[in-house]
Amino acid sequence: MKAAAASGSKTGIATLLEKIGIRGKLDAALHLPLRYEDETRLTRLADVKPGEPALLEAEVVESKVLFRPRRTLVVKLIDGEHELWIRFLNFYPSQQKQFTPGRLIRLFGEVRPGFFGDEMVHPKYRVVSRDTPLSKSLTPVYPTTAGLSQSALKSAIDRALDTLALEDTLDPAVLKKLKLRAFRESVMLLHRPPSDVDAHALEERTHPAWRRLKFDELLAQQLAMRIAYRERRAKVAPRLPDQHTLTNALVKSLPFALTRAQKQAHAVIAKDLAQPHPMRRLLQGDVGSGKTLVAALAALQAVENGWQAALMAPTEILAEQHFLKFKHWLDPLGVKICWVSGSLKARDKRLALESIAKGQTQLAIGTHALFQDDVHFDKLGLAIVDEQHRFGVEQRLALASKGGEPHQLMMSATPIPRTLSMSYFADLDVTVIDELPPGRTPVVTKLVSEERRDEVITRVRESCREGAQAYWVCPLIEESEVLQLKTAIETFETMKATFPDLKVGLVHGRLKAAEKAQVMEAFKAKKIQLLVATSVIEVGVDVPNATLMVIEHAERMGLAQMHQLRGRVGRGTQRSLAILLYYQPLSEMARMRLKVIYESTDGFEIARQDLQLRGPGEYLGARQSGAPLLRFADIDRDTDLVEAARGLAEEMLAAQSPAVIRHVDRWLGSRQFYLKA
Ligand code: ADP
Ligand code: MG
Repeated sequence: MKAAAASGSKTGIATLLEKIGIRGKLDAALHLPLRYEDETRLTRLADVKPGEPALLEAEVVESKVLFRPRRTLVVKLIDGEHELWIRFLNFYPSQQKQFTPGRLIRLFGEVRPGFFGDEMVHPKYRVVSRDTPLSKSLTPVYPTTAGLSQSALKSAIDRALDTLALEDTLDPAVLKKLKLRAFRESVMLLHRPPSDVDAHALEERTHPAWRRLKFDELLAQQLAMRIAYRERRAKVAPRLPDQHTLTNALVKSLPFALTRAQKQAHAVIAKDLAQPHPMRRLLQGDVGSGKTLVAALAALQAVENGWQAALMAPTEILAEQHFLKFKHWLDPLGVKICWVSGSLKARDKRLALESIAKGQTQLAIGTHALFQDDVHFDKLGLAIVDEQHRFGVEQRLALASKGGEPHQLMMSATPIPRTLSMSYFADLDVTVIDELPPGRTPVVTKLVSEERRDEVITRVRESCREGAQAYWVCPLIEESEVLQLKTAIETFETMKATFPDLKVGLVHGRLKAAEKAQVMEAFKAKKIQLLVATSVIEVGVDVPNATLMVIEHAERMGLAQMHQLRGRVGRGTQRSLAILLYYQPLSEMARMRLKVIYESTDGFEIARQDLQLRGPGEYLGARQSGAPLLRFADIDRDTDLVEAARGLAEEMLAAQSPAVIRHVDRWLGSRQFYLKA
């Protein structure tokens, strides 16, 4: 059986193995079971529990092929007093011959009540004799792919296990101190667990053997991140010390004072920029905490030193808002700002690019367009990325490759929970703005079922009559942008009909940049009272007089997105309200999300809960597509291992231990991308 399955064309198997990430023997050895089947002991048919897979032995009484309703091989067996029927819908003629009366069959599977009595459908089976030994270890079941049988996969893995030394990369003293099992022993146990193993711990992946593998994986990640961090510290970047000319002038011109947290963030960044090594700092702060101003101060510091700065935002709307805000702040200081976006006319774009290349532009603001191949900076000293979480790692890298090694400031309102920042973001320095400017009133959130839409409409009308402004956010339709656009336009028409007395506007992603800007300007100038919008307003939009937001189909939205959206109101001193309209029935997940967003206004707490609900893989999601995901460790559940790995990584690097190379080689070998982030 085994030989037959494994003997296909060699390249065919190699291709299939590659498909599940097995390129060499080590990959095979580290391809760990999903679960196990217990074929180490026999269960009497009389003792079988429904729904629980078991290993049975029974004698064939008769076998027959039925043709109705479908061609089926049916075999009747007997175990003591008890009868068992097995059925096969697809079978070979040779199979029927195996079931000659009197033969003993060993079967593994679930027994269910069937048409004839107790039955098993398509069980795993083989013909045995009375003294055929039972297996000594649990039978692993591996994750596989179509066309690659368990037995073929298992023999590839067995070959690897039998030929690889699987030596330990860590010193015995370290293992002892951290109470870790040996590497080889751990790998072997996971592939061939003895019959007396703690099966629950195996399944839960808390068994010491699992912990050893998780630890190794985390350690490799920590080492790689730290190495990347050190390599960056060895690179050269322009020194841009705070000259206090432009920066002080900006602070003086503001109608408000910086918050304590803004001052601290500014001081840390000012110090980074004065170093001759590239800064990679992530500035985190909840929605509305005033990150833009801190970014402006950093940009001015570059400009003061005769270098250029660039600010990139993920959407046209946000980039444009930044452009307007920065012009307002920096024009009086004589700083030359230019605007670059995909929607610029060819001639305007050429002029902008020329001015950037000649160094006339001191600060360039724009979308992704800023980092395309045709953009060349004369002297780029600082690159700022707003809403960093919306960009992929590749874009982060593309940015790094522009004009030497500029300093980088990344900003994000989606906070990174501690475990994540210790692992995936360990190559960055992080500063947190932990307070909002004074005088803000927290947004009150209400959950309202769609059946009570009328009350919401009344509320919108009243607020707008009293001089406030409101957003009406259309549902997010992930599958289709066209559909989303259609809904937005329909909602806009409905709103105009519902509120003939109000001025209603519409903004969505498909509008031309100039049109968008026009709508936003009108909203700012209070010429629009109710703004129907798609989630394009999710980030950055800043209209303090808007104090009411209605979000449709809130049950479809992610937590981070709802928090960001809600942050568009509550920007002034007036009490603001976010109404989350939801449709019944709610899934369990949607119910939990709505509960979190209702109960908390703290972005960090929301992110923590989000991580818990979704798990880190999804949390990092497509946006961080370049982020190497862990295969074994679960950074949310294995926090203690993350901490331990971090500690050891530091020690090993400080001691320049030869184990560093051994360990990184084993775990990252071809996966060099860990090192690039
Ligand atoms: P975010 O951190 O979400 O990017 P912004 O930078 O857009 O927040 O700031 C939100 C609003 O707060 C803006 O209107 C900004 O001008 C204002 N702001 C920033 N800093 C202060 C401050 N220290 N005092 C009062 N208002 C401030
Ligand atoms: Mg912002």
